Amino acid sequence: MKKVVKFGGSSLASAKQFKKVADIIHADEERRFVIPSAPGKRHMNDTKVTDMLYECYELAEAGKKFDSELKQIKLRYEEIITGLDLQLSLDQEFVQIKEQFKAKAGRDYAASRGEYLNGIVMSQYLGFPFIDSAEVIVFDEDGNFEADKTNEKLKARLQEMDYAVIPGFYGAKEDGTVKTFSRGGSDITGSIVAKAVHADVYENWTDVSGFLIADPRIIDRPEGIETITYRELRELAYMGATVLHEDAIFPVRKEGIPINIKNTNAPEDNGTWIVESTCQKSKYTITGIAGKRGFCTINIEKDMMNQEIGFGEKVLRVFSENGISFEHMPSGIDTMTVVVHEDEFIDKEQKVVAGLHRLVDPDSIEIESDLALIAVVGRGMRATRGTAGRIFSALAHANVNVKMIDQGSSELNIIIGVEDRDFEAAIKAIYDIFVVAQL
Ligand code: ASP
Repeated sequence: MKKVVKFGGSSLASAKQFKKVADIIHADEERRFVIPSAPGKRHMNDTKVTDMLYECYELAEAGKKFDSELKQIKLRYEEIITGLDLQLSLDQEFVQIKEQFKAKAGRDYAASRGEYLNGIVMSQYLGFPFIDSAEVIVFDEDGNFEADKTNEKLKARLQEMDYAVIPGFYGAKEDGTVKTFSRGGSDITGSIVAKAVHADVYENWTDVSGFLIADPRIIDRPEGIETITYRELRELAYMGATVLHEDAIFPVRKEGIPINIKNTNAPEDNGTWIVESTCQKSKYTITGIAGKRGFCTINIEKDMMNQEIGFGEKVLRVFSENGISFEHMPSGIDTMTVVVHEDEFIDKEQKVVAGLHRLVDPDSIEIESDLALIAVVGRGMRATRGTAGRIFSALAHANVNVKMIDQGSSELNIIIGVEDRDFEAAIKAIYDIFVVAQL
């Protein structure tokens, strides 16, 4: 068995956290390839090293002094090194970083140093060899990630190695310019490495015990999700449930490698398994609930709309020509509703209305705002009768007026539109009927 283990910033924020991480790695010799993030927050008001690096580099780029800011970053590492009793000096590294900052080596280079230095510390502490990700994670000239080239390079490099530390978040273009993924991108590095070594599992260690059925800011201590499929996760992540970088799914998904989200502060918890497909029934009919606020609807009415071929295409053209993506489009015989993100739409509202008048000549257009969307997701819904019925009766009991319903033919999710002020009550009602009532 081979495991790739990625540790997030809060798991590596201090010497104390590093010790927990080392215990986790040493407890299982299959944990062979380690992907560290940069040190994250030690407490609520702390600053992540990545953010410190961005700020410091901004000063350097503006030609201002940045010595004291860089010193603060160095201190973060020294605190860890001393706390771990390591004989390691990063003096030379910091001399070089300072030179590169002065030479304006770029924001990505600056940010990447967080992971790079943490990788060096981690490799010393574990006694595992260090691999600079700039040598194995490849980006093209335009800064796009090169999956195939990376896979070849990584495979060749890791083939003969039993253990390695490979820092997350960055790689380099062929000319050596360092390039990072978007924020939270160490998750992606872990997934890429898992694919290259054909890992049996990609363990992603963070500060929560996996995904929760609902948002803990709305539901008091919601239950965790034991197993979720990639497709379910996509639906929930799109609606705001975030633990893992979205792009981290693709490399492992293609290889059928499961991801296990684990908690560094509670390693005995099972966490959440993210899998391609499973015969394991989820504990409840639904796997999770997620939602987002800030949508609005554009209701278009026209007599005999149903007979007008191409009506829908023209409506959507108006939105796409204005650079607005649409979320849903429920329709009736003579009505069509387009649901969009309010902040994408608001500035272009009148242009869209004019465009619709010109192209489809409707009888009326009505715009409503303050819509919240809730996704009830679950592979178990397909095999269960009455799910929709239960949702809507729960909402009716909670006095929530349903403004929109959309169920995809995959029967994997039901999307419900409610007024913004009913958002939390609706999520509570759905959680209660499917989870609390089953306990
Ligand atoms: N350190 C980077 C960030 O804060 C990348 C990561 O942690 O995954 O976004």
